[in-house]
Parts: sequence; C-alpha cells; structure tokens
Amino acid sequence: MEAPEITLILSPQEIGKAASIIKSGGIVAFPTETVYGLGANALDGEAVSKIFRAKGRPADNPLIVHVSSREMLNMVAMDIPELAFKLMDAFWPGALTIILKRKDVVPDITTGGLDTVAVRMPDNEIALALITGSGVPIAAPSANISGRPSPTKAEHVIKDMDGRIDAVIMGGETRLGVESTVLDLTVTPPALLRPGGLGLEEIIGTIGEVKVIEESVRSPGMRYTHYSPKAKLILVEGERKSVLFEVKRLISESRKQGLKPGVLVSRESAMDIECDAKYILGSVNDLKEVANRLFSGLRFLDEAGVDIGIAEGVFTEEREGRAIMNRLRKAAKERVIKKQE
Ligand code: AMP
Ligand code: MG
Repeated sequence: MEAPEITLILSPQEIGKAASIIKSGGIVAFPTETVYGLGANALDGEAVSKIFRAKGRPADNPLIVHVSSREMLNMVAMDIPELAFKLMDAFWPGALTIILKRKDVVPDITTGGLDTVAVRMPDNEIALALITGSGVPIAAPSANISGRPSPTKAEHVIKDMDGRIDAVIMGGETRLGVESTVLDLTVTPPALLRPGGLGLEEIIGTIGEVKVIEESVRSPGMRYTHYSPKAKLILVEGERKSVLFEVKRLISESRKQGLKPGVLVSRESAMDIECDAKYILGSVNDLKEVANRLFSGLRFLDEAGVDIGIAEGVFTEEREGRAIMNRLRKAAKERVIKKQE
C-alpha cells in the first residue's frame, strides 16, 4: 500500500489527538465492537456534512449518534420512555441503537431532517475514550464509501477513505463484525428497523413485544444499495445440500461463459466446492464466526478480481443470523431460493 494521506493513530495513548480533531470540526474513523465508524461532532452541522461528502452518502440517510454516558444521551434526546431505560440497563454499552425524540440542538443534517434521533453507546474502550475525550456526542455511520461493505478492519477504512478523512484510529479487527440492531422506541410496540449484532430474541426477552418490519421504510438507510462487492453477487438460499448443488452448477455455468467465479461458502460445504476464489464465511453452527467474517468476505471478492460472486445463504435467521441474511440479501443483485430436492 502507498503511504496513506490520512493520519494513522496507532496507539490508545494518542486518542487525544483524535479527540482534538473531532473538537475542531474534523472527521475521524474509529473502531467500535460492531464495525468501524466515521465520526464527527454530532452537534456541529458543518462537521457532520463532511461525513456525507466523504462517504457519498445520500443526505436523507440519518446517522447514529454515539454517546459515552447517560448525560450525553440527555443532550440529544427527550421524552425518553421507560422501555428505553430497561433496554439501556440490559444492553448498553452494546450493539443496540434506539430511536428517540430528538432535541433541537441536534442539527437537521445529523437526523436527515427527522424529528427523531438514533442513539447508541458502543462497547469498545477506544470508542468510549474518543467520545469522552471529545466531550460531545459523535455522529458516525460505518466508515465505508456508501454502498460498499462496512469496514471491520482499519485496512478496509484506509482502502475506502484515504485522502477523504482526517484520521483513522488503528484498533484491530472489530469483535462482532455486523452493525448494531436499530429499534424504534417512538412507536408502540417498539419496531425493529434493522437487524444487527444484538439478537431480536434478547430484546424480546427484555421488553416483550417487538414489531418486525420487513424492509423498513421508516429507516431511510434500508432503501439504498448496501454492502455490494464490485462483481454481481448471486445469493443462493435454502436447505444446504440443495444450495450446494446449485452453487456448483452456477460455478460451472459461469466458467462456460468465460467468467471467473468467486464463492462465499459455509465451512460445511467448503470441501465439496472447487473454486480458485473461495472464502469460508464460517460454520452454520457458529453464527458469531459468520457475522465476524461476512464483510471481509464481500471485500475478498473484489480483491480476488472475480467477475461473478456466488454466496451460500444457508444460515438460520436467529440471533446474529437475522443480520447475516439481511446483509447478504442487500449485497446480492440476484436471489435464488432452492427448496429441498
Ligand atoms: P449506518 O450509520 O450506516 O450504520 O446506518 C444507520 C442506520 O440507522 C440507517 O439504516 C439509518 O436509516 C438508521 N437511522 C438513523 N437515524 C434514524 C432515525 N432517526 N430514524 C430511523 N432510522 C434511523
Ligand atoms: Mg453503513
């Protein structure tokens, strides 16, 4: 890699440098437990607009505001319902973003003009130290170019954002690998707007009823292309043996057309699939592993220079699996569903 144009912040001792950049209206990428975020002072509209420019993000797609304390939450949100406290007690810091009524100090650009605000407390020492050190809530979407897979390593951030942002804190690989679960608490019952790192089962276990909205219209971000590798991705869903058969067929069909295929497969199917560009997502019995490796897998297809990507969508839609299948469907241009043969 050529010498990057962004400041690389290499050690936790240097987080003060990143906090100064945030305080003076700059933008910094930082690790969280989900994916890397691209942060700016959430209360400074000018600073937040730099995030949208750097990512090429549509202006009506609101950002998540990251806080390091309940006091900071109170700076941006009001009329906080009892359920929110229950959830925060159970899951913060953690991969749960809640939608609340916003206060006027939050600029329109941060919330995409909505009268609500998305808030989360990340479970990562570096992220918390950055927010506390900056003294302001930090608005941060994932630190990728809009439409690309979210970054789970600092290297992914540098690849997408070099020359576009002020600095990146090199924090190693993120622990969960998929973004936070987004839950709207301004409606009754609360509505799941985006599945994520925290399982829906856990939320229901804590607050009871949750409404699941497929392909939510109320979360503006869900409308746009997401997570896409450069090559066309075909997702094959269903029972694993039938999926395996179809994946093999698609590999040979693309070869016949003179195209180079690449595959994202389960550990269970890996041995049975012959392909030069093969990436193992993880075991069907280990959804945490798959979540962790998913976005690197989508980026792998680009690095391997394939013409067509084929992914096995064989993960159960429970816990992290709900987010995994959601991201795969969003990344795919085409979806094939195989029934048992
Ligand atoms: P990202 O920052 O890329 O992880 O995306 C943040 C997600 O949260 C997007 O899907 C947004 O549409 C959603 N979001 C952020 N703020 C709000 C809000 N006020 N109401 C509904 N969805 C929101
Ligand atoms: Mg994103």
